[in-house]
Amino acid sequence: MRSVPSIIHLDMDAFFAAVEQASKPSLRGKPVVVGGLGGRGVVATASYEARKFGLHSAMPMAQARRLCPNAAFLTGRFEAYRANSEIVMGLLRERSPLVEPLSLDEAFVDLEAGPYGPALAAATPAEGAQLVLALAEDLRADIVERTGLTASVGAAASKLMAKIASEQAKPDGLVLIEPGSEQSVLAPMPVRALPGIGPATEQALRRAGLTTVADLAEAGFEDLVGLLGKAHGAGVFQMALGWDERPVVPDRDAKSVSVEDTFEVDLADRDRILREIDQLSARCVRRLRAAGRSGRTVVLKVRRFDFSTLTRSETLRGPTDDPEVIGATARRLAMQVDITGGVRLLGVGVTQLADYTQEDLFAQLEREERGEREKEKEGEGDEAEVGEVEEVPAEPVVRRWWPGQDVTHREYGPGWVQGSGVGRVTVRFETPYSERPGRVRTFSVDDDGLEASGALPLRPPAVEG
Ligand SMILES: [Mg+2]
Repeated sequence: MRSVPSIIHLDMDAFFAAVEQASKPSLRGKPVVVGGLGGRGVVATASYEARKFGLHSAMPMAQARRLCPNAAFLTGRFEAYRANSEIVMGLLRERSPLVEPLSLDEAFVDLEAGPYGPALAAATPAEGAQLVLALAEDLRADIVERTGLTASVGAAASKLMAKIASEQAKPDGLVLIEPGSEQSVLAPMPVRALPGIGPATEQALRRAGLTTVADLAEAGFEDLVGLLGKAHGAGVFQMALGWDERPVVPDRDAKSVSVEDTFEVDLADRDRILREIDQLSARCVRRLRAAGRSGRTVVLKVRRFDFSTLTRSETLRGPTDDPEVIGATARRLAMQVDITGGVRLLGVGVTQLADYTQEDLFAQLEREERGEREKEKEGEGDEAEVGEVEEVPAEPVVRRWWPGQDVTHREYGPGWVQGSGVGRVTVRFETPYSERPGRVRTFSVDDDGLEASGALPLRPPAVEG
């Protein structure tokens, strides 16, 4: 492993929520939650102010509302997130051609491959560490200057340690882990700190009395292979010692997203297997969404008791990131697999990826609302049975406004939707450049002066000439 901590992991702080606060001056310093606002929605990102109330990503939105009723609850604006992600990734690529994005707001960078590579290669470990710290601070300052957003950076000699360092650096910090100190940094951490240890593996390890990384290192290679199988056990043992030689892979244009879990005892019960598949599907969807993508083909991987591994796949009509659709497809695929004898590993993946677009988001909202409308209808009792074909007047088009949406009003200019209901929509008129929170006005939902608009950049565009 290298002697200079020249791999960095950059992670934007509470990215979606931070973009919202930067865009909407009235929300700065306030709890903000971005996510699915419908019945089954979950939190995508909570601002640090909201985290003080116990909110975190993947929490059901209903629970988030109970814990922090005064937060601003907003639907995501992926156009704005992607635009800022591109600025940040561009700044990383100025530092090295080896940039590996993990999601819209997270990436590894190998500084040795960049313009400072020769200086880093010639440096003593102490000089090298100083240079890396200076480069990382310069990067963080550039990100603030270009976007107004903060990032945390971890620097180390491996991807494993760089990622752990950035977690320690949060929020708005920089942590460097000295090469050689890996094992002592890792020792007191829970086993879940290592990549590749999910909830099922954690449980298996806990039953064997192994809860910290130090326990894993002490257990040794043989015991871990005995507990987790050859490949997994060997990998976990190496990570526990802080050995990680994985290279930074540039511009990884992911072709697929997948998650899998190995079980300590073979699963033979079909219901249990289906429940695991649901959980894997949910995790897979979280990763898919974090990467800002959706996918068209669902893949189920099954390793049976005899280590024979099967994959089954089904291609959907269009790309989706709907956990129910992906879960139902994976379950359907599971019914085609012979599981007599038991299942040792399950995986759910999605391939044929497409960019996650605003349209996907609207489709999701529509589905949620349709679900709710149908529930209401059930309570209403039957409307007339349709006997003969009648000329049905087209339903009047009701414009839908969603919380957080960018709008402009003919008279009042640019703003965003704070909320809408009972035929009214409330708009706050402010932009990223407003010096103080803007005024709020309420309109009829079909006010013809009001229209949807695009997201403004967080920094005013430079004036040409
Ligand atoms: Mg982040």
